[in-house]
Amino acid sequence: MSKQLNYSKIGLLVGLECHQQLATRTKLFCSCKPRLFKGEPKVTFLRRLRPTQSELGQVDPAAYFEFKKGVRILYEADNETSCLVEMDEEPPHPLNPEALEVALTVALMMNAKPVDEIHVMRKTVIDGSNTTGFQRTCVVALNGSIEVEGKAVPIEHISLEEDAARKTGAEGFEIRYRIDRLGIPLIEVTTGPVIQSPREAQRVALAIGRILRATKKVRRGIGTIRQDLNISIRDGALIEIKGVQELELISKVVEYEAKRQLGLLEIRDELKKRGVTEDEIRGEFHNATELFKKTKCRVLRKAINQGKRVLAVKLPKFSGLLGREIAPGMRLGREMADRARFWGRVGGIFHTDELPAYGVTEGEVDRLKRLLKAGPEDAVVFVADTLENAADALRAVVERAKEALRGVPEETRAANPDGTTRYMRPRPGAARMYPETDIPPIQITEEYLQELASRLPELPEEAVKRLMVEYDLNEKLAKQLVDSEYLGLFEDTVRKAQRVSPTVVAATLTETLKALRRDGVDVEEVSDEQILEVFRLVDSGRTTKEAIPEIITWLAEHKDGTVEEAVKELGLTVISGDELRSLVDRVVYENEAVVKERGEGAFGFLMGVIMKRYRGRLDAKVVSELLKERLKSLYRG
Ligand SMILES: [Zn+2]
Repeated sequence: MSKQLNYSKIGLLVGLECHQQLATRTKLFCSCKPRLFKGEPKVTFLRRLRPTQSELGQVDPAAYFEFKKGVRILYEADNETSCLVEMDEEPPHPLNPEALEVALTVALMMNAKPVDEIHVMRKTVIDGSNTTGFQRTCVVALNGSIEVEGKAVPIEHISLEEDAARKTGAEGFEIRYRIDRLGIPLIEVTTGPVIQSPREAQRVALAIGRILRATKKVRRGIGTIRQDLNISIRDGALIEIKGVQELELISKVVEYEAKRQLGLLEIRDELKKRGVTEDEIRGEFHNATELFKKTKCRVLRKAINQGKRVLAVKLPKFSGLLGREIAPGMRLGREMADRARFWGRVGGIFHTDELPAYGVTEGEVDRLKRLLKAGPEDAVVFVADTLENAADALRAVVERAKEALRGVPEETRAANPDGTTRYMRPRPGAARMYPETDIPPIQITEEYLQELASRLPELPEEAVKRLMVEYDLNEKLAKQLVDSEYLGLFEDTVRKAQRVSPTVVAATLTETLKALRRDGVDVEEVSDEQILEVFRLVDSGRTTKEAIPEIITWLAEHKDGTVEEAVKELGLTVISGDELRSLVDRVVYENEAVVKERGEGAFGFLMGVIMKRYRGRLDAKVVSELLKERLKSLYRG
């Protein structure tokens, strides 16, 4: 068990930045559909990163660094999901009014004050994820508030922005991005930094998500909602963590980050106690290539055979601190490795806290320490790469070591799927916004706002109550449905497939789809129309509700397949009439002994045999009637 932290004592403060993709008919600044494509790209084009000057003439330091690295970007596209606007070959079209309406609706639901005029701005982007070198964004409303478990959580602003291209690969100095995602409308909701525990962070995110989904205009599936977290503790630093994709992960990320910062503060104190000064960390690099010439470590030997060098640096009095676990899976050594990878393009680092290991022997460690004049209290870090990369990597390691003396360095980190985080980049500098001159400002009139206010979607709590009354759903299912993105489809389905019980529809759209997703089925590939069609077939008695998971799985795997084809291919058409009668007869005959022994009491057993063998193809009620009849006639006979 990990120790429980007293979060108010350590002064934990968290702010959320929630990004949700919208399911509008078109993208934010062109008429492409907000969809992603699979398979091979039809078009690719290369760009070089260049630093973008802001209006003030300042170069973003992080952008400049990327530029210095000489990164090339390969963009992938297809003509269904992107056009000349995404390629930056054509100016943006006017702001999508449908997306603006959703954002304003959310703003009103969060009691925020819409701005009088929408001004689209350009935000410098440093990593090539936008073909233009900037992201278009606009503030829609300010100063809102939502209530979460009795506490008013301030909503600082609600913005509308274009999503960035998605990374599909990276090799050396070339990064690949797919521009299908570029331009998908994103609504951004930012809370004030008032959240005081991991659990509360999760609650607030859930509450925001519910309001967004209430508009019924949100995209669904993994990656369509992304949370950025701003986390600080007293004496720590404000750390921005990007890209938490799963709600369940939020509390873990907050907990681990609080622990990480505490752990780094403990390391700082320990270094002070050991009397380490910044001047002492001199960063003299030693060439240790010769020493590892005959090593059994495969990574090192391979590098040396390729003519690369092993460079090493001593970190005075750091022994034991690089390998110490500060939060689950997180160590100072790992932070140094992240920095080395980022600034030095190396695969990783070795350090003496984790050696001997990986084929590096105790003898080699001893000789290395002698070479660097390192005592038992010192740590040694080394790396094998080209001279330039290895030197860049060790410079980053030395810088990180110096920061350890000061405590928690400010940086932007990225969330891993297990709740840990990794170094992403330095905190971007200020002055990154300037006006988008291609798009005229849009007036928001009082009349328009009043009209929107008169038709706001029902609040999530109201929806839960209504579903329980109107469709006789239990509370758990009603809540799940409201928390899913399927409420709209649910209501559509129960209206159009009236003989299917609403409980079955709701359970399918929540529990069944969730289970399929967990099994790796790409349920986002199945359209609303197809899901509705599946229920229509159940409604008309041509297939059964037990067959639904199999049909949806088939549809997810056959992009152009129809529901009819799925049922046919899977052999899931319902068995009825004479066929069903002879099937029942056959099972009774096969189990003659049981029937003779138990008479009509064999009903349950036989029912089980039949339903198990023909799962998904039988209507249980009809089978039960037929079987009862048959047993009765046999018994009498
Ligand atoms: Zn487009």
